[in-house]
Amino acid sequence: MVIGGGGDDRRPTRRLLLRSASVAGSLSAVSGVGSVVRSRMIEDSDDDGILDAKKRSATFHRRLEGIFGDQFEGLAVGRPDLLLDARYVGGTSISPGTKRTIVDLVRTRGIHAQWLDYPTRYDPQAVANRYGTTVKGLLWGRDSFYSEEIEDVLKNVALQLLVVPGTTKAADAGRIYSHWIDAMGGGPDGHVNGFSLGNRAVVAERDDPFEEAALVLHEITHLVLCHDDDPENTGVMGTADEVALMDHEWDQFRNGLDNVRDTTGYDIAFRPCLWQENLSAILE
Ligand SMILES: [Zn+2]
Repeated sequence: MVIGGGGDDRRPTRRLLLRSASVAGSLSAVSGVGSVVRSRMIEDSDDDGILDAKKRSATFHRRLEGIFGDQFEGLAVGRPDLLLDARYVGGTSISPGTKRTIVDLVRTRGIHAQWLDYPTRYDPQAVANRYGTTVKGLLWGRDSFYSEEIEDVLKNVALQLLVVPGTTKAADAGRIYSHWIDAMGGGPDGHVNGFSLGNRAVVAERDDPFEEAALVLHEITHLVLCHDDDPENTGVMGTADEVALMDHEWDQFRNGLDNVRDTTGYDIAFRPCLWQENLSAILE
């Protein structure tokens, strides 16, 4: 029902929500009450998916400080913010170099990115026992890691990036199994280096600094962008020869930050890239 083959995002956009709210607002303005309050409640002046009301909320700030401590630099109304909530399984990490590179790249483009390392690590065995080790079990299954472990206050305001060791099976070492990719016949037996469902992603840990930075930026960028098969695109969504995005991709990225807020009502199932690149091919 939501679906069309085109490239645009079929979710109700913020603009649409605002438009319908302003209609409701102008109607209720006639009777006098409620419109101002209502439109304030959904205003997102910087289009990053974090509502102005949340950015102004001392309670919200305190809750984030309570979880992440000094790492949290606060949010500012009128400034596009991107919160990167990183969760580590076992002894995994993202190197300071990769974090710096990504923050610098993103801030150069006018987006205030912040890494928020979740303070506790997850035990690999406990995660495997409870959720399994597949993309489904981690990101999108009914009782997935995402749905069970991520605090409600952080859902739809931050991008959750899960870092896992990846499988130890020789042929697929350092990768993660995805049912979708397997059904598509992609990757070595459905194993991938990372996977994104827009406002949540998983990567397998990488030792090589370039590989790590390229992979992490790639999965973060999927918040908004799909793969690009243009050979001229040397950034992480194209040939991945450099840890970068093309100028036009930065524009798209900045304009799509509000994807961090899932408004489908169908959880992640109808994310545009997923539809374009995976589901449509399966159903054809
Ligand atoms: Zn990708």
